[in-house]
Amino acid sequence: MKHTPRKRFGQNFLQDVSILEAIITAIAPKKTDLMVEIGPGLGALTHLLSRFLPLLHVIELDRDLVERLKKTGSPDTLVIHQGDVLQFDFEKIASGSDKKMRIVGNLPYNISTPLLFHLVPFASRVEDQHFMLQKEVVERMVAEPGSKTYGRLSVMLQWQYHMELLFIVPPSAFHPPPKVDSAIVRMIPRVEPAACDSRKLEKTVTQAFSQRRKILRNTLAPLFTEADLVDVGIDPGKRPEEIPVEQFISLANRLS
Ligand code: SAM
Repeated sequence: MKHTPRKRFGQNFLQDVSILEAIITAIAPKKTDLMVEIGPGLGALTHLLSRFLPLLHVIELDRDLVERLKKTGSPDTLVIHQGDVLQFDFEKIASGSDKKMRIVGNLPYNISTPLLFHLVPFASRVEDQHFMLQKEVVERMVAEPGSKTYGRLSVMLQWQYHMELLFIVPPSAFHPPPKVDSAIVRMIPRVEPAACDSRKLEKTVTQAFSQRRKILRNTLAPLFTEADLVDVGIDPGKRPEEIPVEQFISLANRLS
């Protein structure tokens, strides 16, 4: 049964066995895990994971691939949720168990940033997340202050997760090959993320990075006085890429 990869669903299927094995080693599945795979596709990762797990939840949008999985996957192991992961309520899976979820996936790159944000509200129900993403996106997620790639994505996600780039995957590992390198990232939710309203932090960070090259005294003027910046330890003459996550959080907490 041949499946023609659909570009609109971000379908690049993993076919390199050594990479698949490296991903499984990184995830280290245990039979007691409450595992959820996003975008199982043709099942390359799914079938390997199934060997370790009595139960595996998968979320797939493409109906043809769902039909295929029903035929090729082991019916006792797979719990298939057909639909858009961006609309998916992960609480549905979490509430049926006393365990935290482990979420994995070779993600469709066209929805990767909205998906990462969609998952944030479920962070307290998650043990860890292992994702394949565009390398450039992972570099932005894990970037530290002072780096050129440090920005909104770094601050918003580092607030909630410890993150680590595990390894890089070349285009040749996929069919069809994407135009860019990919990377595997591990995300572990922080036990007690600093208290902050996500909308306030988002507003602060979006404004701060709206003009990366400008100093914060000017860029943040619509939201904060210079005294606000100084009070939380920010030098108003600095640029946004120099400010650590904790200072953005302290600043956001001053918004009414
Ligand atoms: N896991 C497979 C692999 O590694 O070969 C497929 C990965 S492919 C990059 C992304 C998968 O996500 C495809 O199967 C695609 O149909 C599915 N997908 C795309 N958009 C989705 C969405 N909004 N919700 C759920 N699945 C989606």
